[in-house]
Amino acid sequence: MKRLVRARHAIVGGEAVRDFAFVVDGERIVCVGEGGALAAANPDLPCLDYGEDRLLAPGAVNGHSHCYQILLRGWADDWGFERWRDDALYRIIPQLEPEELYWVALAAFVEMLGNGITTVVEFFYLNGAGTARLEKLVEAAIDCGIRLVVARAWMDAPQAPALFREDLAAARRDTLALAEELRSAGVMVCPAPHSLHAASPEMTRAAVDLARELGVPAHMHVAEARYEVEQVRARTGLTPIAFLDSLEVLGPHFVAVHAIWQTEEEKDLLAQRGAALIHNPVTNQYLGDGIADLAGLRRRGVRVGLGTDCDLRPCMYDEMRAAAFLQKTATLDGATLCAREAWLMGTREGARAVGVEAGDFAEGCYADWCVIDRTHPSFHPWSHPVNQLVYVSDPGIVVETFVGARKVSDRRRAQRYGNERIGAELRKVAQRLGLPLDHAAAPA
Ligand SMILES: [Zn+2]
Repeated sequence: MKRLVRARHAIVGGEAVRDFAFVVDGERIVCVGEGGALAAANPDLPCLDYGEDRLLAPGAVNGHSHCYQILLRGWADDWGFERWRDDALYRIIPQLEPEELYWVALAAFVEMLGNGITTVVEFFYLNGAGTARLEKLVEAAIDCGIRLVVARAWMDAPQAPALFREDLAAARRDTLALAEELRSAGVMVCPAPHSLHAASPEMTRAAVDLARELGVPAHMHVAEARYEVEQVRARTGLTPIAFLDSLEVLGPHFVAVHAIWQTEEEKDLLAQRGAALIHNPVTNQYLGDGIADLAGLRRRGVRVGLGTDCDLRPCMYDEMRAAAFLQKTATLDGATLCAREAWLMGTREGARAVGVEAGDFAEGCYADWCVIDRTHPSFHPWSHPVNQLVYVSDPGIVVETFVGARKVSDRRRAQRYGNERIGAELRKVAQRLGLPLDHAAAPA
């Protein structure tokens, strides 16, 4: 069905635009232009018309998430990476049953939609005991309507929990079957060798080969923490990006997640090979990983998107803000990485980095957008809307979210989901997994 969408205020290509409209056919935008002209040219189309009190923004693209990590929020904090991984992540997450995973994923996705995220790349590594858990995650995404990309992890390191581990043949077989099965549902499945510490070089190469075969990007955690550099160097004599290049896996289809600890030569290499990067600035701060040289990488032409990774609060406006602030801090220059650049990384550039036609109001893009409340107390008439969203607002400013031109989130729906079912199901999951439900001490 064709439809006209018109807004008095919109963000297009990172710029503020007045009286903007686009025509949607099915899930895609087929035509964009000035509101009055497009309305006059399409008098018979049904029109969704937003007034002065609304701002239309393209849905944000979350380039990297592990939705089940919401279970670690608020109690496994302030631990440092190794303790967090061993005593929280590796202890809790492998216990998740498929049905529980459904509710956890649904909770995270509904939260993302409420925060204006319309596409999420889920880097999923609970694949060692069959496909049931991943199928439940996909079901949750389809049920709530978020656009899903599955970065289907491959892991064979002996130290990883059994539920995360598999052999190469099983990883290839299940990834292929899933890609086939989900093609008609519009879900892209990307092979994702977990990292150089959790996937062997053989597995890494095979995963990237399959990505090439399928014509999709391969996602991989690379050089997130400093210890990885020493580990890889001790094992191979090379630093991580250089070692990946020696495996011949870098290329335009390769998405490096994090890539914080790189030499200048490796940055050049990443750019020369045309690889993309997903930067997760909130998680990088939370886990004390470090500060990626975004400014340097972008200067070299590396495509950069943003992700919420451990999903403390899955909100791309938070990630944009963190990305800008970290670069300003690292370069001691408040002019480094402006609001518009951060905005584009969380929308259009992020979409390009992960190979999804989304993140902007442009012909051919998915019609994914969110509606911002211009009467919200934190929305200032004197602020540029992009700066407003990147630096000032909290996600409560998003009132509706559309994916593929279909409304999938609004305040009423969020309340219904949140209050009636998801909260109760999450509590049950937390109880069964033995998460701390009472942090209060008795009064002295
Ligand atoms: Zn990750």
